[in-house]
Amino acid sequence: MLCSEKVYTLDDLKKREHTTPAFAVLGKPIAHSLSPKMHNAAFTALRECKPQLAGCRYFRFEIAPEELTEALPLFFDKNFFGLNLTIPHKVNVLPLLKEISREAEIIGAANTLVRNDALGGWRGENTDGRGFAHATKMQLGVNLAGTHLVLLGAGGAARAVAATALMRNCASLSIVNRSRERAEALAKTLAPLKNSDSGLRIFSPEEIRHPQSALRNFSDRERVLIVNATSLGLNPGDPSPFPLQLLHKNMAVYDTTYGSHTSALIAATRERNLPAADGRTMLAWQGALAFELWTSVPAETVQSVMLREIS
Ligand code: NDP
Repeated sequence: MLCSEKVYTLDDLKKREHTTPAFAVLGKPIAHSLSPKMHNAAFTALRECKPQLAGCRYFRFEIAPEELTEALPLFFDKNFFGLNLTIPHKVNVLPLLKEISREAEIIGAANTLVRNDALGGWRGENTDGRGFAHATKMQLGVNLAGTHLVLLGAGGAARAVAATALMRNCASLSIVNRSRERAEALAKTLAPLKNSDSGLRIFSPEEIRHPQSALRNFSDRERVLIVNATSLGLNPGDPSPFPLQLLHKNMAVYDTTYGSHTSALIAATRERNLPAADGRTMLAWQGALAFELWTSVPAETVQSVMLREIS
Protein backbone atom coordinates (compact mmCIF):
# COMPACT_ATOMS: atom_id res chain seq x y z
CA MET A 1 0.00 0.00 0.00
CA LEU A 2 1.51 3.36 -1.05
CA CYS A 3 1.26 6.53 1.04
CA SER A 4 0.71 9.91 -0.66
CA GLU A 5 3.08 11.80 1.71
CA LYS A 6 6.13 9.63 0.98
CA VAL A 7 8.77 9.98 -1.75
CA TYR A 8 8.97 6.68 -3.68
CA THR A 9 11.71 5.33 -5.94
CA LEU A 10 11.99 3.05 -8.96
CA ASP A 11 12.70 0.11 -6.62
CA ASP A 12 9.44 0.79 -4.75
CA LEU A 13 7.60 0.79 -8.09
CA LYS A 14 9.08 -2.60 -9.01
CA LYS A 15 7.67 -4.06 -5.76
CA ARG A 16 4.17 -2.55 -6.18
CA GLU A 17 1.26 -4.99 -6.67
CA HIS A 18 -1.27 -4.40 -9.48
CA THR A 19 -3.97 -2.79 -7.34
CA THR A 20 -6.25 0.25 -7.53
CA PRO A 21 -5.81 2.91 -10.25
CA ALA A 22 -3.05 5.32 -9.30
CA PHE A 23 -1.50 8.58 -10.50
CA ALA A 24 1.92 10.09 -9.84
CA VAL A 25 4.32 12.94 -10.44
CA LEU A 26 7.87 12.02 -11.50
CA GLY A 27 10.91 14.26 -11.14
CA LYS A 28 14.20 14.80 -9.40
CA PRO A 29 14.10 16.54 -6.94
CA ILE A 30 10.46 15.80 -6.13
CA ALA A 31 9.97 16.10 -2.34
CA HIS A 32 8.80 19.76 -2.66
CA SER A 33 6.08 18.97 -5.25
CA LEU A 34 2.58 20.25 -4.36
CA SER A 35 0.90 18.05 -6.99
CA PRO A 36 -0.01 15.13 -4.63
CA LYS A 37 -1.73 17.61 -2.28
CA MET A 38 -3.76 19.16 -5.11
CA HIS A 39 -4.83 15.95 -6.84
CA ASN A 40 -5.63 14.00 -3.66
CA ALA A 41 -7.79 16.93 -2.47
CA ALA A 42 -9.67 16.76 -5.79
CA PHE A 43 -10.20 12.97 -5.49
CA THR A 44 -11.47 13.44 -1.92
CA ALA A 45 -13.83 16.28 -2.93
CA LEU A 46 -15.35 14.14 -5.70
CA ARG A 47 -15.75 10.91 -3.73
CA GLU A 48 -19.56 11.33 -3.27
CA CYS A 49 -20.54 12.47 -6.77
CA LYS A 50 -17.97 10.33 -8.66
CA PRO A 51 -17.81 7.05 -6.68
CA GLN A 52 -15.79 5.45 -9.51
CA LEU A 53 -12.86 7.74 -8.49
CA ALA A 54 -13.15 6.93 -4.78
CA GLY A 55 -10.15 4.57 -4.64
CA CYS A 56 -7.82 6.77 -6.71
CA ARG A 57 -4.65 8.19 -5.10
CA TYR A 58 -1.77 10.31 -6.41
CA PHE A 59 1.87 9.70 -5.37
CA ARG A 60 5.31 11.22 -5.87
CA PHE A 61 8.28 9.31 -7.31
CA GLU A 62 11.88 10.47 -7.42
CA ILE A 63 13.00 9.24 -10.84
CA ALA A 64 16.43 10.19 -12.22
CA PRO A 65 16.86 10.96 -15.96
CA GLU A 66 18.63 7.64 -16.59
CA GLU A 67 15.71 5.73 -14.94
CA LEU A 68 12.90 7.19 -17.06
CA THR A 69 13.12 4.68 -19.96
CA GLU A 70 12.73 1.76 -17.56
CA ALA A 71 10.17 3.52 -15.34
CA LEU A 72 7.51 4.49 -17.92
CA PRO A 73 6.52 0.93 -19.07
CA LEU A 74 6.59 -0.18 -15.42
CA PHE A 75 4.14 2.57 -14.41
CA PHE A 76 1.92 1.34 -17.26
CA ASP A 77 2.13 -2.32 -16.18
CA LYS A 78 1.46 -1.42 -12.55
CA ASN A 79 -1.93 0.13 -13.39
CA PHE A 80 -1.06 3.85 -13.23
CA PHE A 81 -3.69 5.84 -15.17
CA GLY A 82 -1.91 9.18 -15.43
CA LEU A 83 1.46 10.78 -14.74
CA ASN A 84 2.78 14.31 -14.38
CA LEU A 85 6.37 15.18 -15.22
CA THR A 86 8.52 17.91 -13.79
CA ILE A 87 12.22 18.87 -13.87
CA PRO A 88 14.18 17.25 -15.57
CA HIS A 89 11.83 15.04 -17.64
CA LYS A 90 9.47 17.30 -19.64
CA VAL A 91 11.56 17.39 -22.83
CA ASN A 92 13.47 14.10 -22.57
CA VAL A 93 10.25 12.09 -22.29
CA LEU A 94 9.07 12.86 -25.85
CA PRO A 95 10.90 9.99 -27.68
CA LEU A 96 9.53 7.50 -25.10
CA LEU A 97 5.85 8.21 -25.85
CA LYS A 98 3.45 6.29 -28.11
CA GLU A 99 1.62 9.49 -29.08
CA ILE A 100 2.06 13.26 -28.56
CA SER A 101 -0.67 15.93 -28.64
CA ARG A 102 -0.23 18.80 -31.09
CA GLU A 103 0.10 21.23 -28.17
CA ALA A 104 2.91 19.22 -26.55
CA GLU A 105 4.60 18.92 -29.94
CA ILE A 106 4.45 22.68 -30.53
CA ILE A 107 5.68 23.46 -27.01
CA GLY A 108 8.35 20.76 -27.33
CA ALA A 109 7.65 19.30 -23.89
CA ALA A 110 5.06 17.16 -22.06
CA ASN A 111 4.01 17.69 -18.44
CA THR A 112 1.10 15.20 -18.47
CA LEU A 113 0.93 11.57 -19.65
CA VAL A 114 -2.35 9.77 -20.27
CA ARG A 115 -2.58 5.97 -20.31
CA ASN A 116 -3.59 4.59 -23.70
CA ASP A 117 -4.45 0.89 -23.50
CA ALA A 118 -5.00 0.53 -27.25
CA LEU A 119 -1.45 1.76 -27.92
CA GLY A 120 0.00 -0.05 -24.88
CA GLY A 121 1.76 3.05 -23.60
CA TRP A 122 1.57 6.77 -22.86
CA ARG A 123 0.19 9.80 -24.75
CA GLY A 124 2.00 13.07 -23.98
CA GLU A 125 0.10 16.29 -23.34
CA ASN A 126 1.10 19.75 -22.14
CA THR A 127 -1.21 21.69 -19.81
CA ASP A 128 1.32 24.34 -18.64
CA GLY A 129 0.53 26.80 -21.45
CA ARG A 130 -3.25 26.61 -21.08
CA GLY A 131 -2.79 26.77 -17.30
CA PHE A 132 -0.88 30.01 -17.76
CA ALA A 133 -3.57 31.46 -20.07
CA HIS A 134 -6.36 30.61 -17.57
CA ALA A 135 -4.32 32.03 -14.67
CA THR A 136 -3.58 35.39 -16.28
CA LYS A 137 -7.23 35.78 -17.30
CA MET A 138 -8.53 34.77 -13.88
CA GLN A 139 -6.11 36.72 -11.69
CA LEU A 140 -5.12 39.69 -13.82
CA GLY A 141 -8.04 39.95 -16.26
CA VAL A 142 -5.52 39.73 -19.13
CA ASN A 143 -6.43 38.20 -22.51
CA LEU A 144 -3.27 37.12 -24.28
CA ALA A 145 -4.71 38.13 -27.67
CA GLY A 146 -3.59 41.68 -28.41
CA THR A 147 -1.31 41.91 -25.36
CA HIS A 148 2.43 42.67 -25.59
CA LEU A 149 4.36 40.02 -23.66
CA VAL A 150 7.75 40.57 -22.07
CA LEU A 151 8.93 37.07 -21.14
CA LEU A 152 11.80 36.72 -18.67
CA GLY A 153 13.45 33.31 -19.14
CA ALA A 154 13.90 30.77 -21.94
CA GLY A 155 13.64 27.41 -20.11
CA GLY A 156 10.80 24.88 -19.97
CA ALA A 157 8.18 27.14 -18.38
CA ALA A 158 9.06 30.02 -20.73
CA ARG A 159 8.61 27.69 -23.69
CA ALA A 160 5.02 26.86 -22.73
CA VAL A 161 4.19 30.53 -22.04
CA ALA A 162 5.74 31.75 -25.31
CA ALA A 163 4.08 29.12 -27.54
CA THR A 164 0.68 29.72 -25.92
CA ALA A 165 0.97 33.51 -26.25
CA LEU A 166 1.86 33.24 -29.95
CA MET A 167 -0.88 30.66 -30.63
CA ARG A 168 -3.34 33.11 -29.05
CA ASN A 169 -2.14 36.04 -31.17
CA CYS A 170 -0.34 38.18 -28.63
CA ALA A 171 0.59 41.60 -30.06
CA SER A 172 4.33 40.98 -29.61
CA LEU A 173 6.71 38.74 -27.68
CA SER A 174 10.01 39.99 -26.24
CA ILE A 175 12.20 37.28 -24.72
CA VAL A 176 14.72 38.45 -22.11
CA ASN A 177 17.22 35.81 -21.00
CA ARG A 178 20.61 35.59 -19.32
CA SER A 179 21.91 33.09 -21.87
CA ARG A 180 21.58 34.48 -25.39
CA GLU A 181 22.02 31.04 -27.01
CA ARG A 182 19.06 29.63 -25.12
CA ALA A 183 16.87 32.61 -26.06
CA GLU A 184 17.88 32.28 -29.71
CA ALA A 185 17.15 28.54 -29.71
CA LEU A 186 13.70 29.22 -28.25
CA ALA A 187 12.98 31.98 -30.79
CA LYS A 188 13.96 29.60 -33.60
CA THR A 189 11.51 26.91 -32.51
CA LEU A 190 8.77 29.54 -32.08
CA ALA A 191 9.23 31.17 -35.49
CA PRO A 192 6.61 28.98 -37.28
CA LEU A 193 3.95 30.10 -34.75
CA LYS A 194 4.51 33.79 -35.30
CA ASN A 195 1.92 35.51 -37.47
CA SER A 196 2.99 38.41 -39.65
CA ASP A 197 1.77 41.01 -37.12
CA SER A 198 3.33 39.68 -33.92
CA GLY A 199 6.93 40.75 -33.43
CA LEU A 200 9.35 38.33 -31.77
CA ARG A 201 12.46 39.92 -30.27
CA ILE A 202 15.31 38.85 -28.01
CA PHE A 203 17.02 40.98 -25.37
CA SER A 204 19.72 40.43 -22.81
CA PRO A 205 18.95 41.63 -19.25
CA GLU A 206 21.51 44.43 -19.84
CA GLU A 207 19.83 45.58 -23.09
CA ILE A 208 16.47 46.22 -21.45
CA ARG A 209 18.16 48.50 -18.89
CA HIS A 210 19.49 50.68 -21.71
CA PRO A 211 17.80 54.13 -21.93
CA GLN A 212 17.01 53.51 -25.64
CA SER A 213 15.68 50.01 -25.00
CA ALA A 214 12.77 49.02 -27.24
CA LEU A 215 10.94 47.98 -24.08
CA ARG A 216 10.51 51.67 -23.23
CA ASN A 217 8.59 52.29 -26.44
CA PHE A 218 5.18 50.89 -25.48
CA SER A 219 2.53 53.58 -25.75
CA ASP A 220 0.20 54.27 -22.82
CA ARG A 221 -2.69 52.63 -24.68
CA GLU A 222 -0.90 49.30 -25.16
CA ARG A 223 -1.39 46.43 -22.66
CA VAL A 224 1.88 44.89 -21.53
CA LEU A 225 2.22 41.68 -19.51
CA ILE A 226 5.58 40.99 -17.84
CA VAL A 227 6.00 37.25 -17.17
CA ASN A 228 8.74 35.91 -14.93
CA ALA A 229 9.62 32.37 -16.04
CA THR A 230 13.15 32.39 -14.62
CA SER A 231 13.99 30.66 -11.36
CA LEU A 232 14.67 34.07 -9.75
CA GLY A 233 11.95 34.59 -7.17
CA LEU A 234 11.86 30.98 -5.95
CA ASN A 235 14.06 31.76 -2.93
CA PRO A 236 13.41 34.53 -0.39
CA GLY A 237 15.93 37.32 -1.05
CA ASP A 238 16.22 36.66 -4.81
CA PRO A 239 16.54 39.95 -6.72
CA SER A 240 13.84 40.97 -9.22
CA PRO A 241 14.55 39.59 -12.72
CA PHE A 242 13.00 42.78 -14.20
CA PRO A 243 14.40 46.32 -13.67
CA LEU A 244 11.80 47.84 -11.35
CA GLN A 245 12.30 51.35 -12.75
CA LEU A 246 10.76 50.09 -16.03
CA LEU A 247 7.42 49.23 -14.40
CA HIS A 248 4.79 51.44 -16.00
CA LYS A 249 1.05 52.07 -15.50
CA ASN A 250 0.04 49.96 -18.55
CA MET A 251 1.83 46.87 -17.19
CA ALA A 252 0.69 43.78 -15.25
CA VAL A 253 3.02 41.11 -13.83
CA TYR A 254 2.63 37.34 -13.72
CA ASP A 255 5.40 35.60 -11.76
CA THR A 256 5.34 31.83 -12.43
CA THR A 257 7.38 31.18 -9.27
CA TYR A 258 5.56 30.59 -5.99
CA GLY A 259 6.48 30.00 -2.38
CA SER A 260 5.59 31.08 1.14
CA HIS A 261 7.17 34.53 0.52
CA THR A 262 6.24 37.34 -1.92
CA SER A 263 8.84 37.78 -4.68
CA ALA A 264 10.68 41.12 -5.04
CA LEU A 265 9.01 41.64 -8.44
CA ILE A 266 5.47 41.06 -7.15
CA ALA A 267 6.05 43.22 -4.06
CA ALA A 268 7.36 46.16 -6.13
CA THR A 269 4.55 45.84 -8.69
CA ARG A 270 1.90 45.91 -5.96
CA GLU A 271 3.58 48.91 -4.31
CA ARG A 272 2.91 50.76 -7.57
CA ASN A 273 -0.76 49.65 -7.48
CA LEU A 274 -0.30 47.55 -10.60
CA PRO A 275 -1.85 44.06 -10.98
CA ALA A 276 0.46 41.17 -10.02
CA ALA A 277 0.01 37.46 -9.28
CA ASP A 278 2.25 34.51 -8.42
CA GLY A 279 2.43 31.04 -10.04
CA ARG A 280 0.00 29.19 -7.78
CA THR A 281 -3.02 29.76 -10.05
CA MET A 282 -1.05 28.45 -13.04
CA LEU A 283 -0.02 25.42 -10.99
CA ALA A 284 -3.63 24.74 -9.98
CA TRP A 285 -4.92 25.21 -13.55
CA GLN A 286 -2.30 22.97 -15.16
CA GLY A 287 -3.16 20.33 -12.52
CA ALA A 288 -6.91 20.70 -13.07
CA LEU A 289 -6.46 20.41 -16.86
CA ALA A 290 -4.39 17.22 -16.38
CA PHE A 291 -7.09 15.87 -14.01
CA GLU A 292 -9.68 16.49 -16.75
CA LEU A 293 -7.60 14.55 -19.30
CA TRP A 294 -7.44 11.56 -16.91
CA THR A 295 -10.96 11.56 -15.46
CA SER A 296 -13.16 13.66 -17.83
CA VAL A 297 -14.14 15.80 -14.81
CA PRO A 298 -14.07 19.41 -16.14
CA ALA A 299 -11.03 21.40 -14.96
CA GLU A 300 -13.36 24.19 -13.75
CA THR A 301 -14.87 21.74 -11.22
CA VAL A 302 -11.61 20.96 -9.41
CA GLN A 303 -9.45 24.06 -10.01
CA SER A 304 -10.74 25.92 -6.95
CA VAL A 305 -10.28 22.83 -4.72
CA MET A 306 -6.69 22.50 -5.91
CA LEU A 307 -5.94 26.21 -5.51
CA ARG A 308 -7.36 26.26 -1.98
CA GLU A 309 -5.14 23.34 -1.06
CA ILE A 310 -1.94 25.19 -2.01
CA SER A 311 -2.87 28.76 -0.95
P1 NDP B 1 14.54 25.87 -16.45
O1 NDP B 1 15.70 25.37 -15.66
O2 NDP B 1 14.15 25.16 -17.70
O3 NDP B 1 14.81 27.43 -16.82
C1 NDP B 1 15.29 28.34 -15.87
C2 NDP B 1 15.30 29.76 -16.46
O4 NDP B 1 15.69 30.65 -15.40
C3 NDP B 1 16.31 29.97 -17.60
O5 NDP B 1 15.79 30.92 -18.48
C4 NDP B 1 17.53 30.51 -16.83
O6 NDP B 1 18.35 31.34 -17.63
C5 NDP B 1 16.84 31.39 -15.81
N1 NDP B 1 17.68 31.61 -14.62
C6 NDP B 1 18.04 30.69 -13.69
N2 NDP B 1 18.79 31.29 -12.75
C7 NDP B 1 18.92 32.60 -13.09
C8 NDP B 1 19.59 33.71 -12.52
N3 NDP B 1 20.30 33.59 -11.39
N4 NDP B 1 19.51 34.91 -13.15
C9 NDP B 1 18.80 35.05 -14.30
N5 NDP B 1 18.14 34.02 -14.90
C10 NDP B 1 18.21 32.81 -14.30
O7 NDP B 1 13.34 25.91 -15.41
P2 NDP B 1 11.75 25.95 -15.70
O8 NDP B 1 11.52 26.76 -16.91
O9 NDP B 1 11.18 24.59 -15.64
O10 NDP B 1 11.24 26.75 -14.42
C11 NDP B 1 11.43 28.14 -14.32
C12 NDP B 1 10.52 28.69 -13.26
O11 NDP B 1 9.15 28.48 -13.63
C13 NDP B 1 10.71 28.00 -11.91
O12 NDP B 1 10.78 29.00 -10.94
C14 NDP B 1 9.47 27.18 -11.71
O13 NDP B 1 9.06 27.14 -10.35
C15 NDP B 1 8.44 27.96 -12.52
N6 NDP B 1 7.36 27.08 -13.01
C16 NDP B 1 6.10 27.32 -12.57
C17 NDP B 1 5.04 26.55 -13.00
C18 NDP B 1 3.67 26.84 -12.49
O14 NDP B 1 2.76 26.06 -12.76
N7 NDP B 1 3.47 27.93 -11.78
C19 NDP B 1 5.23 25.43 -13.96
C20 NDP B 1 6.61 25.26 -14.36
C21 NDP B 1 7.62 26.06 -13.89
P3 NDP B 1 19.57 30.70 -18.51
O15 NDP B 1 18.96 30.15 -19.74
O16 NDP B 1 20.45 31.86 -18.76
O17 NDP B 1 20.20 29.64 -17.64
